[in-house]
Amino acid sequence: MKTDTIAAIATAMSDSGIGIIRVSGDEAVEIVDKIYQNVHCEKKMKEYKSHTIHYGFIVEEDGTLVDEVMVSVLKAPRSYTMEDTVEINCHGGILMMRKILSIVMKAGARIAEPGEFTKRAFLNGRIDLSKAEAVMDIIHAKNEFALQSSVKQLKGSVFDKIKKLREEILYEIAFIESALDDPEHISLEGYQERLLDKSEHILRDFNKLLDSADDGRMLKEGIHTVIVGKPNVGKSSLLNILAGKEKAIVTDVAGTTRDILEETITLGDITLNMIDTAGIRNTEDIVEKIGVEKARKISEEADLILYVMDASVPLDESDKDIIRMISGKNAIILLNKSDLKEMIDEQSVIDIMNAIISDTLSLTKAYNYQHEKEDIESDDILTYQKIKGIDNSVYIIKTSTKEEHGIELLTFLIKDMFFHGQLSYNDEVYITNIRHKEAILDAKKSMLEVKKSLEMNMPEDFYSIDLMSAYTSLGQIIGEEVGDDLVNEIFSKFCMGK
Ligand code: GDP
Repeated sequence: MKTDTIAAIATAMSDSGIGIIRVSGDEAVEIVDKIYQNVHCEKKMKEYKSHTIHYGFIVEEDGTLVDEVMVSVLKAPRSYTMEDTVEINCHGGILMMRKILSIVMKAGARIAEPGEFTKRAFLNGRIDLSKAEAVMDIIHAKNEFALQSSVKQLKGSVFDKIKKLREEILYEIAFIESALDDPEHISLEGYQERLLDKSEHILRDFNKLLDSADDGRMLKEGIHTVIVGKPNVGKSSLLNILAGKEKAIVTDVAGTTRDILEETITLGDITLNMIDTAGIRNTEDIVEKIGVEKARKISEEADLILYVMDASVPLDESDKDIIRMISGKNAIILLNKSDLKEMIDEQSVIDIMNAIISDTLSLTKAYNYQHEKEDIESDDILTYQKIKGIDNSVYIIKTSTKEEHGIELLTFLIKDMFFHGQLSYNDEVYITNIRHKEAILDAKKSMLEVKKSLEMNMPEDFYSIDLMSAYTSLGQIIGEEVGDDLVNEIFSKFCMGK
């Protein structure tokens, strides 16, 4: 099949040392040859060896010199797109890159759509869809984890895992079909138990991938962190310290932080998407009420809650509301204003937590975190860990945002919670793409149907129908079962020249 030749500026649209104009397609070599002058060599570009780079000039139709360049020639199928590709390395000025691109177009290429080079790599079979998506993730990576996991995905971590699961499912489909076709030679006796085992094993793998999707998202996009607390307890001050700049307006009037402020904070390897909310309290003020409702909603969806309390005033009913709200979540309670006379200590918070949530949760006795973490000042921190329920933790620490006391401990604790507790870097496959997660969820639904049919002793063809739909759902991840619409949508999110 003949494809037209596309061209685009592949480097950033800013003045820089070098700019690259990439040309790909059946006529890439002929087109660039028309506008290229090699002073050392008479050969046509067609005769150049693949994967060689050549010095020369780009010239206009009338022979006017445009720029001094290096041109790389990459012949099909050994190129990014698997098509003939020529890359013109010119001087990296925006005007120059645009000029050369327009000359390339005049010579017969058309401008590439966003992501079209990668789309061709996919359509020509060099990479699957999960690898194509990894390319974009690498470009957009915001932190070390995002980078690492996307590179792994590009190398095939997701593809290999999904391929293996699909093969296992396909084997079962094939077995059932052949047994139904040829009952004399292939017996289905005892098969149900085997398939049940297999289904459970596959479901375990699905669950693992789905768990990794949450962790992966958290590491890739940042931990959605929300700061809650009554007005005037020091939430804005905390956000400012963490963000290292004056973002929120800090005042003495209760209820000044009415709108929700967002801030991306990088603590070493991890990113916090920090949200500061209006003070949560029982209020009649309508504007503030909107803020409060929003705050509740956000807290429900947050990965981590930082609950700031003013430890210099006694606990009241709103504190109970907030404690109820944070139960069952990963949370750190900050007993702030510890520089003032203390009215609330860890024990009073513990008591109130026990009173409020004892019916739904059991809490272990607080133990001093210090024993495990030597470099942290003692009696600054107490930890609570739930026995029952999911593995969320609530920690209590003392801080003073005024004197910037306890902040180091706070950042240490956040990192610790997410890196050494619930999360860890390892060789596991992380699902970091929502589209992949949804496909796995669909596949899981189908596998649960298989299990149900087995338990209900349904006829064999029932199993194979649901196995087939699990197989199809997984195929969407690697691009084997996707329509043009989806492919176009995915690649349209790419940047120009990729
Ligand atoms: P928010 O309403 O919760 O965002 O609280 P702010 O950060 O605006 O702080 C309210 C007031 O408390 C300001 O006057 C701060 O200077 C003061 N404040 C904040 N943190 C501390 C602290 O640790 N100690 C003391 N003494 N005052 C603080």
